[in-house]
Amino acid sequence: MLMAESRLIYASITRECILKENMKLSNSIATVKGVGDKTAKLFGQLGIETVSDLVNFMPRRYEDYSNIQEIRLVKPGEITVKAQISSVRSRYSKRGLHVTEAVIDDGSGKLSAVWFNQPYRAAALKSNEEYYLSGSLEFARRRFTLMNPSVELASDFPAHTARIIPIYRQTRGLTSTAIRRAVRGVLKSLPRIPETLPDTAVKQAGLVSRDQALREVHFPSSAQKLEDARNRLAWEETFALSIVGALARKQLHGLPAANVTFNESVTKQLVAELPFKLTPGQKRSAWDILQDLQSSKPMNRLLQGDVGSGKTVVAALAALNVSLSGGQVAFVAPTDLLAKQHAQTLESILAPYKLTVGLLTASQTARGKTELKKRLKDGDIDILVGTHAILQPSVVFKKLELAVIDEQHRFGVDQRRQLLGRTPVPHMLTMSATPIPRTLALTLYGELDISVIAEMPANRKPTKTKLWAANNRSGLYKQVASLLSKGGQAFVVAPKIDTDELGPTRSVADLDNELSKLLKGYSQAVVHGRLKSDERDKIMLKFVNGELDVLIATTVVEVGVDVPGASIMVIEGAERFGLAQIHQLRGRVGRRGQQAFCYLIPSSGDSPSRRLTELEKSHNGFELAELDLKLRGPGEIYGLRQHGQLDLKFAPISDSRSLKLIKELATELVQEPKKLLEYEELYQRVMRLSAITRLN
Ligand code: ADP
Ligand code: MG
Repeated sequence: MLMAESRLIYASITRECILKENMKLSNSIATVKGVGDKTAKLFGQLGIETVSDLVNFMPRRYEDYSNIQEIRLVKPGEITVKAQISSVRSRYSKRGLHVTEAVIDDGSGKLSAVWFNQPYRAAALKSNEEYYLSGSLEFARRRFTLMNPSVELASDFPAHTARIIPIYRQTRGLTSTAIRRAVRGVLKSLPRIPETLPDTAVKQAGLVSRDQALREVHFPSSAQKLEDARNRLAWEETFALSIVGALARKQLHGLPAANVTFNESVTKQLVAELPFKLTPGQKRSAWDILQDLQSSKPMNRLLQGDVGSGKTVVAALAALNVSLSGGQVAFVAPTDLLAKQHAQTLESILAPYKLTVGLLTASQTARGKTELKKRLKDGDIDILVGTHAILQPSVVFKKLELAVIDEQHRFGVDQRRQLLGRTPVPHMLTMSATPIPRTLALTLYGELDISVIAEMPANRKPTKTKLWAANNRSGLYKQVASLLSKGGQAFVVAPKIDTDELGPTRSVADLDNELSKLLKGYSQAVVHGRLKSDERDKIMLKFVNGELDVLIATTVVEVGVDVPGASIMVIEGAERFGLAQIHQLRGRVGRRGQQAFCYLIPSSGDSPSRRLTELEKSHNGFELAELDLKLRGPGEIYGLRQHGQLDLKFAPISDSRSLKLIKELATELVQEPKKLLEYEELYQRVMRLSAITRLN
């Protein structure tokens, strides 16, 4: 039988198998050819249960083997050639290694290729076929050899050679190559992958179809096609987020809220009597908020600003106006201790205007609580500060008109629901120090209006930041000791709590041990997420009061109470953190206006990472967050960890023209929510996202 003929028959047989298998996106991964029960389990470890999961499993990166070279021109390095096999032989080396050696010929020249311990090779290589071979060309013993190249029939659909090749995240027992093989098999036999976006969106945004996008993202036919594919998939993600935002916004705007009168003269008086001048960002934000409050639509605004940028006073201006116009304010802090601090601050700012600030904490006596609640119900308390417990139905306000929520990422969906359940709906101001890139914030919090305080008060000195080589740890702590001797206090942050044998990264426990020697004579304590919260508060309070010199901690300290005396932040295992997160941590020191220092020390090695050097240069949280987004991708964006289930695979679309179109189309689509039901997958995605993120 002729070769060509036999291939035809083979092809028709495989097509038959495929039809029998009836490959569908919803099929279990175990139905894929070559995937047995054991391999299916391994796929499961990567979160791949179905065929759909597999095609949506994005390559981590690509290797470009698309440049096919003539043998006479090849140079050492990664190469691809298209050649025939002139001869093959197998032998055992002196050390007992199985060696397959082939001479390959592409007409321009000859080259030897070698495979070790792949005894099946020799039989698989046919002399009358043309192959692609991709691998590393090495020059040794005065000749070129292609080492362990991947080989594929040139007449086939190449997956491992002669193209841009996808590299996947692997797991023990399941290599990137095996995943690639499975993806190729699936894409070959899957019928057209259905479109998930409205036609108008695809057309107006000039997107490639979902079918083409998924095929090209795995096996790109060119760099441009890959970019188009990634753009299409990112567009889809951003669009879904945008719909979630538009739905929430629509729902919220249908609800009535209190109309707060703007008391201009008292507001001006308060601002004039502050011991400082407001920054331009503070002024603009306060203006945005006061405008919102005068409308009868519920405000839902996010106030973003670095730690120390002065968000509290902006919130106080809002609280002032609400109280003066007869409403009450709930001020929600993440912990009791922070609530206490906020209550003090607000009282000192607002007491001159005859406003009453109340504080409700878990540690109050039952009688104290009852008394406070009564005064609240009677309207004697203007501003109630506490943890989110103050939003429970048992805490009854006479006329709640504004809820200020500090540290927005600790505030859950349930609490938002509690607020929305009230009539009228209180205006909502959320404050966050998490520097989420603006583009991301716009889509992620589509239902929110955003105000940003981009600058720091002029009196604030940026924390001096320095990278230290891991092999000079004792030198670093000598420096720390010298700063402590001048009366400073130090945070030492580590990425994990417990000692384990894995790797050189220091844990809180390791450091507790090590620093008792390196920082002898200074008092130290540890805090981390496994301590009970009252225990943690107790230690924090000691640190705040200056009774402790050194606090060894996990990142639990990244938000929280002010420690005015702290001027040193040491970050161990610094390579484990995002830039924005480190920036957040170093914002915890120097709060009294003293010069503060931040030392970054990687787990090992003597040449600190280039990424971390950005922190020596930049002191802008938003800039650093943008950089994180670029260098580490959306999954690693600080502040989004609690949104892990969002499962963003791409950085959101950020060019303003596309964003505008996305917003427009999303708003249009939600005008008639039934329409959304026509796009099953999109609808499912939107529902998943709403459940995780916000108010619906
Ligand atoms: P954050 O945004 O982290 O909540 P705070 O509101 O706690 O910041 O403000 C930090 C400190 O800066 C406070 O002591 C506050 O009084 C002070 N502050 C606020 N605004 C200014 C300003 N415009 N100029 C100088 N100091 C300011
Ligand atoms: Mg604050």
